[in-house]
Amino acid sequence: MRTQIGIVGAGPAGLLLSHLLHLQGIESVIVEARSRKYIEERIRAGVLEQGTVDMLVETGVGERLKREGLIHHGIELRFNRRGHRINMYELTGGKAITIYAQHEVVKDLVSARLAAGGQIFFEAGDVSVDGFSGTTPSICFAADGKPHELSCDFIAGCDGFHGVCRPSIPSGVLTAFDRTYPFAWLGILAQAPPSSHELVYAYHERGFALLSMRSPEISRLYVQCPPDEDIANWPDEKIWQELHTRLECVDGWRLAEGPIIQKGITGMRSFVVEPMQYGRLFLAGDSAHIVPPTGAKGLNLAAADIRVISRALGEYYASGKTQLLDSYSATCLRRVWKVQRFSWWMTSMLHRFSDDNPFDQRRQLAELDYVTSSRAASASLAENYVGLPMDWSVRPR
Ligand SMILES: Cc1cc2nc3c(=O)[nH]c(=O)nc-3n(C[C@H](O)[C@H](O)[C@H](O)COP(=O)(O)OP(=O)(O)OC[C@H]3O[C@@H](n4cnc5c(N)ncnc54)[C@H](O)[C@@H]3O)c2cc1C
Repeated sequence: MRTQIGIVGAGPAGLLLSHLLHLQGIESVIVEARSRKYIEERIRAGVLEQGTVDMLVETGVGERLKREGLIHHGIELRFNRRGHRINMYELTGGKAITIYAQHEVVKDLVSARLAAGGQIFFEAGDVSVDGFSGTTPSICFAADGKPHELSCDFIAGCDGFHGVCRPSIPSGVLTAFDRTYPFAWLGILAQAPPSSHELVYAYHERGFALLSMRSPEISRLYVQCPPDEDIANWPDEKIWQELHTRLECVDGWRLAEGPIIQKGITGMRSFVVEPMQYGRLFLAGDSAHIVPPTGAKGLNLAAADIRVISRALGEYYASGKTQLLDSYSATCLRRVWKVQRFSWWMTSMLHRFSDDNPFDQRRQLAELDYVTSSRAASASLAENYVGLPMDWSVRPR
């Protein structure tokens, strides 16, 4: 088999890349380890930046997103049992975030690719990448009980943090920057109408809590927990009790409960590799970087990488110029590090650390007070939360 771009991974990064390439008349094939059903039901992120929404809508995969997505103009920071709204819409000159679950984005992209005749190999086994340090990259895998070799011009490693592409780069090429946090998030999906129209980020002496949502009927809620916590230690009643305590507010606000339909624990990590390219292999999304979810940036950062690589490949096939491809990593990393900074800052401001002391707690509360009372500080939070501007927009050729 032969194609122009071989893509490993059908997460948001790989699917979006294949879609944007198609709009520019560039062929690609996606090789995905899991089944279509699995990737379309995998519960992960749910907050889309303004730029991510605009990109999906502008490129023709935003119909359902426009219909079903919940547009939010603000978020609430809650501390000392009082809520403080950050009016992002006003502070950013009219930008917003949209609540639309990651697996819905995946469904929309899979169906757009298949409708356009795109090729996705699901449930591929023994995936390996080769030849990318020279001029003959290829992806080998097993599918439908047969071995396959896909020759291509370039490989996009969109296979997430645990994929094969990053580890296939020779040792000594990449430098990893890593930070693990001394806590995790216990997250639930509950069949309960969200108790707030907007996300509530709560700082509490017992630890962080977040009230989020996936739809008008489904709430997504999180509590900070120890990193090695066993979910078996958290029966449903204990989770609700903790959420009530940490989200409590003096104004009589009440948290609505409902049946818990899913629960799990997610570790918190900041991770970046530099550079994000080697030869004819380009890493994008979680394969190159991980952010703690506090800033709601993982999926959005993956989409930003894809915007850069799709434009660079578009220029290469249109003119033969490699300038944008050569600068792919440097272009992406400028944004990656700003997003890392923001995600780390939100995480540090809102969580209790195992070694913190009364000074640290007072400092965190002072920071929250400052962020919610200073227009300049609120504007900075809002600008980052709705998404820093991209350098250009995607235009189909
Ligand atoms: C458990 C979890 C919860 C999260 N929750 C949030 C959240 O609440 N908020 C938030 O903002 N972000 C969250 N994130 C982060 C966000 O979901 C990711 O940043 C986003 O999925 C990145 O997209 P991606 O396409 O780069 O990677 P992924 O979505 O990980 O996609 C990679 C794809 O590659 C496939 N793959 C892996 N290995 C191979 C292989 N060897 N061969 C072929 N295919 C392979 C995988 O099956 C997957 O489909 C969460 C992440 C995780 C893991």
